[in-house]
Amino acid sequence: MPELRKDPIIDRWVIIASERGRRPTDFAVTGTAPVSAFCPFCPGNENRTPPEIAQWGRPASAPANSTGWQVRVVPNKFPALSSEGNLDPQGLGMFDMMNGIGAHEIIIENPQHDWDLSDATQAEMRDIFTAYVSRMTALRHDDRFSYILLFRNSGTTAGATLAHPHSQVIALPITPRQVRDQLEAARDYYARKSRCVFCDVIRQELSMKDRVVEANEHFVVLSPFAARFPFELQIYPRRHSHDFTLMTPVEMDALGETLKRSIRRLKLSLNDPAYNLMLQTAPSQRPKPGHPDYWGTIAQDYHWRIDILPRLTDVAGFEWGTGFYINPVAPERVKEFLNEVEV
Ligand SMILES: [Zn+2]
Ligand SMILES: [Zn+2]
Repeated sequence: MPELRKDPIIDRWVIIASERGRRPTDFAVTGTAPVSAFCPFCPGNENRTPPEIAQWGRPASAPANSTGWQVRVVPNKFPALSSEGNLDPQGLGMFDMMNGIGAHEIIIENPQHDWDLSDATQAEMRDIFTAYVSRMTALRHDDRFSYILLFRNSGTTAGATLAHPHSQVIALPITPRQVRDQLEAARDYYARKSRCVFCDVIRQELSMKDRVVEANEHFVVLSPFAARFPFELQIYPRRHSHDFTLMTPVEMDALGETLKRSIRRLKLSLNDPAYNLMLQTAPSQRPKPGHPDYWGTIAQDYHWRIDILPRLTDVAGFEWGTGFYINPVAPERVKEFLNEVEV
């Protein structure tokens, strides 16, 4: 069973997943990961993944774990956290730890191995988002979990070990410090100004136009004013909403188109870069013991978004030592570069 351990100085938890049993020589320091010819996510290999959790596309009358699916959700075969058991929080002298309980699922986005998000049809994107909403909603109902992150690693430098297009979802029993810092900052801003800080950012960016890569009726794509990385992008819904799962069908279609165009821009502009995509949305809103009103204003003060981070630079000593980033490309130039390509 993996363990969750809390840093005793700053309030940050880590997962110690030592049962993956790695030895020092397992950590390759040079070269790229070997690309295996066999793909467990391709149709026909359904028995090579753990049994599916959900699927879209195959008639309900067809046997489970057979072909015919359009989107398929399976547990990660090598999960970072264990889905069985209880948290069992413990103290070890001054240290805090608990069992590494959580969920780690794979959303196989399309049956085609060489399918790419940048060429997706509207129906394909709708199926993927439907799967996202469905899994997020289901995992929120599990009382053990506080925060759910949906993300997508594309390319080996971004951490993808299988080339077949897929997203991942991890449910955590605690809200990570970085997420909590943002939630608290948004709540403080709202307490002072009675306005959503993200809505204010969107308004400001739309009036200045300098960093807005694209704006349509429902979404805004921008490279943030203080971007940490070159070509970092954020996609915000223009309608204030704290929760991705509350999107309307029209917004879902607009998001599919907007996301596809953004990925296509990056691909054309930067020669198909590896990237990480993260969905930042409201955590599970269960009352906290002793804080009955903890999530009282989240529907007003938080605003969901998608972050896209192309992997173009390495995070090195200075960044690790300070949490301070050096970004070699001004976000205003990113807007110009990304608008030079035809999408
Ligand atoms: Zn495949
Ligand atoms: Zn807002």
